Amino acid sequence: MLKLRNIQTFYGNIQALKNIDMDVKEGEIITLIGANGAGKSTTLMTLCGIVPPASGTIEFQGRDITGLPPDKIAALGISQVPEGRRIFPYLTVTENLDMGTFLRKDKTQIKQDLNHVFELFPILAERRNQQGGTLSGGEQQMLAISRAIMSKPKLLLLDEPSLGLAPIIVKQIFDIIRKVNKEDGVTIFLVEQNANLALKVADRGYVMETGTITMTDTGANLLADEAVKKAYLGM
Ligand code: ATP
Repeated sequence: MLKLRNIQTFYGNIQALKNIDMDVKEGEIITLIGANGAGKSTTLMTLCGIVPPASGTIEFQGRDITGLPPDKIAALGISQVPEGRRIFPYLTVTENLDMGTFLRKDKTQIKQDLNHVFELFPILAERRNQQGGTLSGGEQQMLAISRAIMSKPKLLLLDEPSLGLAPIIVKQIFDIIRKVNKEDGVTIFLVEQNANLALKVADRGYVMETGTITMTDTGANLLADEAVKKAYLGM
């Protein structure tokens, strides 16, 4: 579904990504793990066109999307939930969710999808008329994910969904990520510092160190790997 080949991305003189190759198959959950500053967020921003690569190619569903602007990439079905959620604090929950649908024209289906996200996250249904900024951190993360789901993505990019949240909320969010993947058929690209959790939910994982992919394997194999355990699982 997605192919990254030889991707190099820079911020001025700083090279954040060095010859990155990655593949995502349709229907998978893949995770990208790594320490602070390894280049995980940059990979997502490169993928969705916010920080275009200096060289290399990105192919999505057989089409070369390298260098396309973010709105064109979004229109092809790639939706990102950025780190730190970035919901609209002065809009209500429902208005925030409407913002996710601005590229869509299928009004009746949008209504059904709204009911669907309210089923996934009943707390959002309860708070549908409340301003986004008044929600708890966990609820804002649920809202950010729901807004992305409302855009009907084929590929959902999630940047650190567990960041700063209590373990019980993180579990709820990861259960939903799994559900959206299995039941709605959305392919998931998950960036996480919580490697333990991410590798448990992922079919496959990539390990990134200072802008380079150093390992790739199934989630289960990476979880059992001694080097991964030592560096990322605190064992
Ligand atoms: P974190 O988990 O802390 O978000 P990360 O793995 O997502 O880390 P990136 O945010 O992608 O890492 O950063 C990769 C490298 O690029 C780092 O060295 C970082 O300092 C640098 N970098 C990131 N954003 C910028 C920017 N806007 N300008 C200059 N350098 C940047």
